[in-house]
Amino acid sequence: MPKRRAYQISLITLTVLLALTGCGSTGNNNDTKTAVNDQTTTTNANTTADASTNAGTGTNSEADTGTSTGTNTETNTGTGNTSTNQGTSTNEGSNSGTSNNGEATTPANSNQADTPPATEAPKKLYKMNKVYSFVPIDNATTSNKVVLLTFDDGPKADKTVTALLDTLDKHKAKAIFFVNGYRVKAHPELLKKIADRGQTIGNHSWDHIDLKKESEASVKKQVGDVQQIVKNVTGKEPVFFRPPFGNGNDFVKSVVRGHGMLYMTWSDGSLDWDASTKDKPDKVIANVLDQLHPGVNILMHELPWTTEALDKLLTKLEEKGYGFIDPDTIDLGLDAPTTAAATATDQTSTDQTAAK
Ligand SMILES: [Zn+2]
Repeated sequence: MPKRRAYQISLITLTVLLALTGCGSTGNNNDTKTAVNDQTTTTNANTTADASTNAGTGTNSEADTGTSTGTNTETNTGTGNTSTNQGTSTNEGSNSGTSNNGEATTPANSNQADTPPATEAPKKLYKMNKVYSFVPIDNATTSNKVVLLTFDDGPKADKTVTALLDTLDKHKAKAIFFVNGYRVKAHPELLKKIADRGQTIGNHSWDHIDLKKESEASVKKQVGDVQQIVKNVTGKEPVFFRPPFGNGNDFVKSVVRGHGMLYMTWSDGSLDWDASTKDKPDKVIANVLDQLHPGVNILMHELPWTTEALDKLLTKLEEKGYGFIDPDTIDLGLDAPTTAAATATDQTSTDQTAAK
């Protein structure tokens, strides 16, 4: 065997060296042996994680006689040893397995790593108050310095939808896209894109009409048909509803609740729909920041100037220490009595101008 031959050559070399130099004291040899053994152990742990490769004490002391790292390495790879590697953390997996070598480590460890974490619904962190803002369920563990981002009246165009999604991703932000059924029918692929990119879909009625003026049958259809088309496209019905113009009544609220949705208007209107803000991204930002306070529900639209403003707006919100509510963490509160939703104060002034 070549290894044995190398080993014999080493011994011969040692003998010659000892004879020539005369430095054969036991004390010196032991010191050298200890140092080289440590080095060898380290090499084994790092390179192979194989419990069977490290040399035993006897083998090592023989190799040590040459005080050559090269000789040590060669000896170790060919000689069985289970003592040194058992102390290293990399071998814990294989030690419990049936085989005492490194190959057993891999499947044992990867089995552990492959165990999928249980997929749970996100923990509910926020609840809506009577003016449609959000407060932590537990103030001790959840910051109130957050905002809810919403975009209404889409999906309209790939250019604006994609730009909004890209900016949200850049800021790791989530939002609700309140969509109209007739727009979804025209562009189901855009709705799918929004959902596929991890954003939340909300129901904004089919035709974007004033539901307060509609018959009960019409209200049911305006709300229900959007639930159906969104489910057809994304596989999931919305759990958030915003009436067009912020206009609702008790009947609208009861229908919305019957579909398992949380009814909301907003508490921080960007006024991006208003003539005063058209084509003015900086005005969108200023309007939102003017009304900013913890928990606000920010109303924006899928409009070019809002799309243009979003990156800067989110940056400014972050600079002020605000985070973005993930809609999945909102407790819908549908188990509670209906009084909270029914008595919520609709915003009359802005509602009337939220035309588009
Ligand atoms: Zn709208």
